[in-house]
Amino acid sequence: MRRIAKWHGNKITAEPSEGCKLCALGAKLVLFITGECDSNCFYCPVTKERRKDIIFANEQEIKSPNEVIKEAKMISAKGAGITGGDPAITINRVVEYLNVLKKEFGQNFHCHLYTSHSLTKTQLDELRNAGLDEIRFHPPRLNLTNKMKNSIEESRKLEWITGIEIPVIPDKEQSISEIISFAIDRKLNFINLNEFEITEANFETLKKMNYESKETVSAAVKGSEELAYKLLKRFKKHPIPIHYCSSKYKDNVQLRNRLIRRAKNYSKPFDTILNDGLIARARIKTVSEQNLLKIKQVLIEDFEIDNNLIEIDVENCYLFTSWQIISKLINDFLKSFKEEIVNIEIIHQYPYDGGLITYLEPLFEKK
Ligand code: SF4
Repeated sequence: MRRIAKWHGNKITAEPSEGCKLCALGAKLVLFITGECDSNCFYCPVTKERRKDIIFANEQEIKSPNEVIKEAKMISAKGAGITGGDPAITINRVVEYLNVLKKEFGQNFHCHLYTSHSLTKTQLDELRNAGLDEIRFHPPRLNLTNKMKNSIEESRKLEWITGIEIPVIPDKEQSISEIISFAIDRKLNFINLNEFEITEANFETLKKMNYESKETVSAAVKGSEELAYKLLKRFKKHPIPIHYCSSKYKDNVQLRNRLIRRAKNYSKPFDTILNDGLIARARIKTVSEQNLLKIKQVLIEDFEIDNNLIEIDVENCYLFTSWQIISKLINDFLKSFKEEIVNIEIIHQYPYDGGLITYLEPLFEKK
């Protein structure tokens, strides 16, 4: 009898796909190739701001393939997950980016793609020839049409990994069971069941449809996990790997590991990399640019702080340094500079230039 195993806190009936293994390590670059999509899923998590023809590499908006290479290097990526919107809206761009990624990082750079389109044989061949390693079909609104079934069967004939990825909508047990049965029957390589999530983009619609979050601080919808476990149990005797991917896992494992990888390449000698992949640093805002330069000089010469433990942002009059150093020196420091400083804060931020600040502790504020 096959068992349901735990994998990074998720549940799984057999070994996950290569794409999932790399995601768990945070080693997959998320390439949001366009925000456009014509599938109109009522649960679409893509925000209004992103539902247009824009490209993101992880959290950064980009304009060219060169920028995707830069971001892939920043997280020491071993592959990319191509998503959107629907990448099939812009197959030529997907092919262009695949070619660039494979050329730069080699054929072993593992690329997978999500689509809600029933791709034609020509489109599948184009993607395969550009080096796509794995394809994940998402039947929009859990409606697996004959057209999509044909496309999936066509894809299965190519020598690559073909799977299905769907949200576990709590009251859609019948449709989900039929999709899993199809995947088993056609011997697909895997099926991924995602915990159904309420997001900023679908909140109003899901509320009207009476879907509720399972906990106040969670995006996960009540009943989704229970249904996923029920389905894993029912289908576990079949050889196809069924992987249940929880909402918590996406934040606590995938995102966290990706941020840690980025923080290791991005952080400065004065930063502390935190457990969640954010960086902690001290930020000092000065009254003027002249004050900024003077304070930097005094910190180096009188306080004997190493030059590489200080960075300045002249445009915004910010000086960054180690939060431990500032916490220790703050009293002496303020004796010398009280009038020249607007504020001193410890911040936790995403490891990007101007990255989102999630924690801010004021140490001093000019009256
Ligand atoms: S296929 Fe994906 S991107 Fe397109 S509408 Fe559905 S959930 Fe949104």
